[in-house]
Amino acid sequence: MLEQLRGIVQRVNAAKDLQSALNIIVRRVREALNTQVCSVYLFDTDINSHVLMASEGLKAESVGHVSLDIGEGLVGLVAKHAEPINLQDASIHPSYHYIEETGEEVFHAFLGVPIIHHRSVLGVLVVQHEERRRFDEGEEAFLITLSAQLAGVIAHAEATGAIQGLSPSGHRVSDTMFSGVSGSSGVSIGHVVVVFPPADLSQIPERQTKNIDKEISFFNSCLNAVQDDMRELNEQIAGEIAEEERQLFDVYVRMLDDDALGNEVVERIRMGSWAQGALAYVANEHIRKFEMMSDDYLRERAVDIRDLCSRVLFYLQQKEPVAMEYLDDTILVSDELTPAMLAEVPKEKLTGLVSVKGSGNSHVAILARTMGIPTVMGAVDLPLNQLDGKQVILDGYKGEVISNPSDLVLTRYKNTMKEQDELTAGLEDLKDVPCVTADEHRVHLWVNTGLMSDVMHSLDQGAEGIGLFRTEVPFLLSERFPSEQEQTEIYREQLQAFAPKLVTMRTLDIGGDKDLSYFPIDEENPFLGWRGIRVTLDHPEIFMAQVRAMLRASIGLENLQIMLPMVSNVNEVNSATQLIKRAHRELLQERLDVKFPPIGVMIELPAAVYQTRALAKLVDFISVGSNDLTQYLLAVDRNNPRVANLYSAFHPAVLNALYQVVSEAQEEERPVSICGEMAGDPGAAVLLVAMGFDILSMNAAALLKVKSVIRSVSLDAAQDLLDQVMQMEDAQMIRSAVDLTLYNAGVDRLLRSSRTN
Ligand code: PEP
Ligand code: MG
Repeated sequence: MLEQLRGIVQRVNAAKDLQSALNIIVRRVREALNTQVCSVYLFDTDINSHVLMASEGLKAESVGHVSLDIGEGLVGLVAKHAEPINLQDASIHPSYHYIEETGEEVFHAFLGVPIIHHRSVLGVLVVQHEERRRFDEGEEAFLITLSAQLAGVIAHAEATGAIQGLSPSGHRVSDTMFSGVSGSSGVSIGHVVVVFPPADLSQIPERQTKNIDKEISFFNSCLNAVQDDMRELNEQIAGEIAEEERQLFDVYVRMLDDDALGNEVVERIRMGSWAQGALAYVANEHIRKFEMMSDDYLRERAVDIRDLCSRVLFYLQQKEPVAMEYLDDTILVSDELTPAMLAEVPKEKLTGLVSVKGSGNSHVAILARTMGIPTVMGAVDLPLNQLDGKQVILDGYKGEVISNPSDLVLTRYKNTMKEQDELTAGLEDLKDVPCVTADEHRVHLWVNTGLMSDVMHSLDQGAEGIGLFRTEVPFLLSERFPSEQEQTEIYREQLQAFAPKLVTMRTLDIGGDKDLSYFPIDEENPFLGWRGIRVTLDHPEIFMAQVRAMLRASIGLENLQIMLPMVSNVNEVNSATQLIKRAHRELLQERLDVKFPPIGVMIELPAAVYQTRALAKLVDFISVGSNDLTQYLLAVDRNNPRVANLYSAFHPAVLNALYQVVSEAQEEERPVSICGEMAGDPGAAVLLVAMGFDILSMNAAALLKVKSVIRSVSLDAAQDLLDQVMQMEDAQMIRSAVDLTLYNAGVDRLLRSSRTN
């Protein structure tokens, strides 16, 4: 059974488009279940009905013509309840809806299972039989398992069609929406540039070449280079391996020959494709075909083709690296965006970002917020390689990408962009006014930084201090650990630019999703593993060099605070403090006039929440890292788009934890700040002020928005709202209550989460 399942899924995966995928499904399933009919109905949102898309057993002329309205017939019932229906005799069921065109009156037994992707029903898979007998449990389980596995493939094939402007049943569509989650708010309209990691055949986008002849001869030269490499390798290992194995190299060289793979690629280039895209297309086709073979030996050959073609791709990319052309309205799209990819695009050309992987609290999304670029994360169904050069609308508020936009929708979004610009211009006036509530309660707004450019931008926005300098950022951009001297210079720049305002430097917080290329941490479960303080306490040499660099950098400025990440117990704080004292002593011995800085602890783990008082006694200040705290309290990986809808800082458990931290820090008379992303959410900020946080630290791009909202709400009103939401049991209800308060206070719709288009 498992073999059959695998075989069908692989074949469907290899299909070139939606229709071929569906044809394979109906043929193979009918065979596997030895039944008389197998059909697939897909829901077409464009015409609001389930269309018979493919069938083996029903009359061919009904395919593509027959459709059932929502809830109509047994198919409609399966879709409506999202549950299988297994009947001995369909014709006596009250929902049976006979359609003459199909010729199905002779088939009595009926089993229909829903095809569900991300909670929505894409369609229904049906098998039918003449005999009046229920399909048995095994057959039902087989169909359910298959449908669950195929849903993703069908969704992907549908999305690929939709990008080309076609609905599942072939109607022309516009405004196809791909959802993800919000990475950074704002709307933008632009043209897609797909970026991809090197030598990865699976991610090469389709593009046109400008010069076909040149592209063909370039491809041939790369192909020859790989053939030469193969021959050379063959020579090198002569005598080391058996003669028959050596002959394999000849086979490889021939596989690339003009009349084999090479020829197919050239044909595709002749049709206008660029060499990389043509190679990737042909290679992937062959890889899929081999992967589907039932013979183990032949299946393994897929690996050879991937290897060979990756080598050719490597030459194509290295010999003449294609200079990336960034359009003036670039929307950068990638399977997994990295900070380095962002850095390559001239800032003035970057209008939006989309990542298929990752979520709203991934570090690349945090970077995007700091840069103020509308971003969608976790757009898992986006057909990446079809997107290059296409115009899309990016809605960073809702986390949506819209392709083939209609004039109507374009106009609506252009108006939103205009409103956005007016709002930003209006906020400029707030730069130099203090952040006070409508009843004059003073709130301190600090910023989170990573790069020197953030510092300049932050000062420009009227930031009153740095609540979190992510010191790992310069480490991430380096090719080895920066030396103590290099670190001193980087830290000095930040301290000097802000002096006399305070700068909170967090000790190196690597691990989780922050991996240094030169210090890889390979773990099964990185977010529960070797992260933050755990790494640096195990490597005191790294910790000491960093702390010494911070202390040296602060000489004469005296505006440094040091903060410890990922603390789960008091021993870690004691050990870290000992090391900081030692670093301080060493510098004093060098006769340097260094002041001992205030030390703080981040509350990022549930364990730390329950130990706030004990931790507060050991340090000078407390700062809540709500990004990780939310992740750990709700057991929701902050990077995983599949569970992104469960990640909410408005969850009552998170709000209760925050409230408890503030109260306990206050009991120990320690200042308490928050430096997680929720501090930069205007609605959340109102609750945080009411809870009693002394400092809200956020990305610079959020600062004036938060200031504007806080200034329009009184502390009394904020506290009433807090009292009200602390009684609520659901994150969505809390969010709505906050929005309503902001609405009543006259806050602009673009600053509220319940923005309607
Ligand atoms: C946090 O976890 O809230 C935080 C500020 O740290 P980071 O996002 O860098 O993990
Ligand atoms: Mg954190």
